[in-house]
Amino acid sequence: MYEDFASKLAATMWADFDDKPDRTDGHPAEITDLSTTVIDGNFPWTIVTVETDEGVTGIGEAYPSPGVHEVISDYLRPVLVGENPTDVERLYNLMRASLSGRGSQQGIGTIAISGVEIALWDAAGKLLHQPIYQLLGGKMREEVMVYADCHAGEAMVESAEEGQQEETYQPEAYARAARMAVDDGFDLVKFDLDVPSGRELNRKSRHFDPPEIEHKRRIVEAVTEEVGTDAEVGVDLHWNFNPETAERLCRAIEPYDLAYVEDPLPPENVDALRELKRRVDVPLLTGENCYGRHDFRDLIGKQAVDFLAPDVPKTGGIAETKKIADMAEAYYQTLVPHNIGSPVATVATAHVGATVPNFYGLEYHAREVGWWEDLVVGDDLIQGGTMAVPDEPGLGIELDWNVVREHEKS
Ligand code: MG
Repeated sequence: MYEDFASKLAATMWADFDDKPDRTDGHPAEITDLSTTVIDGNFPWTIVTVETDEGVTGIGEAYPSPGVHEVISDYLRPVLVGENPTDVERLYNLMRASLSGRGSQQGIGTIAISGVEIALWDAAGKLLHQPIYQLLGGKMREEVMVYADCHAGEAMVESAEEGQQEETYQPEAYARAARMAVDDGFDLVKFDLDVPSGRELNRKSRHFDPPEIEHKRRIVEAVTEEVGTDAEVGVDLHWNFNPETAERLCRAIEPYDLAYVEDPLPPENVDALRELKRRVDVPLLTGENCYGRHDFRDLIGKQAVDFLAPDVPKTGGIAETKKIADMAEAYYQTLVPHNIGSPVATVATAHVGATVPNFYGLEYHAREVGWWEDLVVGDDLIQGGTMAVPDEPGLGIELDWNVVREHEKS
């Protein structure tokens, strides 16, 4: 039933996209199947596989989200089987057309499309014998900076002894965690700053009183003093502050020369963010809750932030994120992509980062997952705080499916 509905929508509403291009151009491969595999990482990493009749398999990754498997198997698979996997741009629009009114612009539908789009680029690169960055126009950097998401408090609270949980949220614990990351070679480290202080009053109001603000300032002070000029420091506020509290907090931490303050306000109101940016003297970053280029349009056009954090397995994929970067470049905004994924999502993001000038660094959120690197055959991808952009065709990595199966979510 779903198959008929999806195909009919694509065929009737967007007939232009249903015209298959000439198959005599030397790229006759056809898509034969789409499937998903969920790895039980620190998030459910959803690997998307696109099979072709040439024996080439493309891999992608969709943002962790319930329902992605169903969208891919019930809606996107019937639309894509039989299509040429190297027609990535056309198939992206075909997928969006097939989900029109049901997630083509935001949400699970766009997440599913993102995972498939990345897998299509991987398959296309393998079929055309080119790395993805080359298909995007070539790389302008050999390696990309990777920053460490440290999560000192939360990660340590789980392992803390009874009665010691409060200590893990003290400034000294953050300073120690920062030093460990810097000693591992990271040049940019990030911490959550919306963490418990022990005197939570009414957090739902998003108003924090002066002692709470002081607790956050002391964390920033301890971390930046420990790190010195060895690395930059960013902080994440996870949308938990109202404008007056965000302004007081930003003013309190202005002296510490942070790389950026991430998500100080709830994500829906771009004008509020722009006003905050006007009133405080810290760089602002947002974007992990946004989907395609249209979602980013106001953030860019209104110059509401300094840094944008698109998430490639969520925005619509590799090409959509490059388009967001290109729009942002016209306003001198810089990309620091969000990434909580497996090596597949991370390398996909690196290919975008390699090909646009306004890319600074991408997030690495899996330092506590000891087998993250084992998912890929060969040397470690991340060396210190950088990652080489793979030169092999497609994404340029090969998953070790034995390790994937070992950690597959049942
Ligand atoms: Mg964040």
